[in-house]
Amino acid sequence: MYCRKCGTQNDDNAHLCIKCGEVLQQIGGAGDPPVKIPNYLAQSILVTLFCCMPLGIPAIIFPLR
Ligand SMILES: [Zn+2]
Repeated sequence: MYCRKCGTQNDDNAHLCIKCGEVLQQIGGAGDPPVKIPNYLAQSILVTLFCCMPLGIPAIIFPLR
């Protein structure tokens, strides 16, 4: 993942940025509001994988724009 503060690419499992020390993942603590990931995005991916590709792909792409 990329650090939202300095843009440095870190390991996906990293909790702190290797460059600036910014917290990359909120672990249920107070502080900055966590990045809200729409639940329907995950559902869209599952639908695409297991059900209907033509309907699932636009559902995945659209929220990212
Ligand atoms: Zn950083």
